[in-house]
Amino acid sequence: MTETIKIKELSHFIGGEMIAGQNGRFSDVFNPSSGEVIAKVPLASIEEVKGAIDKAKAAFPAWRDLSVARRADIVIKFRNLLTENMDALIDLICTESGKTAEDAKGEITRGIESVDLAIGAPHLVKGEYSVNVGGQINVYSAKYPLGVVAAISPFNFPIMVPLAQTSMAIAVGNAVILKASERVPMTALFVSELWKKAGLPDGIWTVINGDKDAVNELLRNPEVQAISFVGSTPVAQYIYETGAKYGKRVTALGGGKNNMVVMPDADLEQVANSFIGAAYGAASQRCMAISTLMPVGEETADRLIMILKEKINALKVGAYTDEEVDFGPVISQQSKESVIAAIDKSVEEGATVVCDGRELEIVKESNGFFVGPTLIDHVKPGMDIYEQEVFGPARNIVRVPSLEEAIKLINEHELGNGVTIFTNDGAAARKFTTEIDVGMVGVNVPIPIPVGYHNFAGFKGSRFGEGHMFGPDQARFFTKTKTVSERWLTSSANTGSTFAFPSNND
Ligand code: NAD
Repeated sequence: MTETIKIKELSHFIGGEMIAGQNGRFSDVFNPSSGEVIAKVPLASIEEVKGAIDKAKAAFPAWRDLSVARRADIVIKFRNLLTENMDALIDLICTESGKTAEDAKGEITRGIESVDLAIGAPHLVKGEYSVNVGGQINVYSAKYPLGVVAAISPFNFPIMVPLAQTSMAIAVGNAVILKASERVPMTALFVSELWKKAGLPDGIWTVINGDKDAVNELLRNPEVQAISFVGSTPVAQYIYETGAKYGKRVTALGGGKNNMVVMPDADLEQVANSFIGAAYGAASQRCMAISTLMPVGEETADRLIMILKEKINALKVGAYTDEEVDFGPVISQQSKESVIAAIDKSVEEGATVVCDGRELEIVKESNGFFVGPTLIDHVKPGMDIYEQEVFGPARNIVRVPSLEEAIKLINEHELGNGVTIFTNDGAAARKFTTEIDVGMVGVNVPIPIPVGYHNFAGFKGSRFGEGHMFGPDQARFFTKTKTVSERWLTSSANTGSTFAFPSNND
């Protein structure tokens, strides 16, 4: 007897309640490990988004006016609920994204770092004060929340990225609307319940599910003051340009094509282990995944490939339910097909496949969206697989003759999210960190994602706008600085009128 899966109909979270979609449009949510549809997520209409914005706007003043200590107290309760519900969160993330449990746990833990930083918001929004700048005049600058702000998130970190985008925004007094990825909406809805349990007032946290119609309303609606976007580069650019046109503050993080440069003096066994985790973890669906290995010198390349071949062929691909698995599926059938097409095209363009993930049994037989670990040698600039972000486990080797050539190629690439160098030569590392035009740089660190209390963002096509994710910059991005000059005259004083521009020399 075949078991029939119960397909859940999901909601939005508006005004502190789960609200069913009114639009009649839905998108399928898959379990990528089995290929089955597990839920239907409503795609909000413009009217539904407007209604959610109105509720957020109405809730904002009371939240802004609450003391910073009371707001921090709610964020602390939320943080504790995240750890108490770790198992349920892992289960949801694995089910809708296909990640392994260990990977999901890592993502939650890193997301909690952003909440920890938000607990310290009172310190980060402290202002500045100057006394007696003119005759009995004091001046202060204070940070005020913006009002209703929106976050639009990608599928590949169902919790870490939304937490990084929204925790500080809430803690400093804004009302936040999250447009979660329609491919992983269940985690965001569960997080909504945790905010409610933590005591967050209704309307301060909203999840609106939807596609580009919902996003476009968030971009255009005059009540939305700021947009925090994380996703692919073409959409990031569109969000930045459209949001700016409608007068919003926008930070839009895009894709990555991250290189690992390997100097001849590096410990190649250590390099191989670092590369494998950073390149194939989460089926390479990380904006900071290593895409391209750049060994310096032919001998370094040949020795490294020998070590890698054996390790890569031993990797286990499968469903998260199997604890032995190193990584799971990609997010969709379409994604699987595009990764395989990228490998095919690289061969047509003259590259050679060292490890072929297209040939695994699970790739051919399973209904899940699996692609095996693939390593492609003799990749060159100009080839599609070098230029484009491939969001799946097809990784490249670009052989370079020198460190200078590696730096030149990396700096010429359109994307500049993360990069790393493996070497024991301090001078080479220093040259690299100084000259490289990439936002997040590692030295003997495979994935240089900064901890939550440092700023996170790439350069070039990996980020549009000036803000950062994670880090103290979030407190700046989600507040506006007001500068107040004030004078309290003693009753006997009378300054009379003056028509000259105030000089403050009196
Ligand atoms: P995506 O760009 O397809 O979608 C991201 C969000 O934008 C989703 O909520 C989606 O609904 C919305 N969206 C998609 N198309 C849109 C359109 N035409 N108009 C308006 N909104 C639209 O990205 P994804 O596939 O969900 O996520 C993977 C991408 O995100 C990769 O490129 C990855 O590198 C990138 N990413 C970057 C970072 C970073 O920090 N730089 C972090 C995580 C993911």
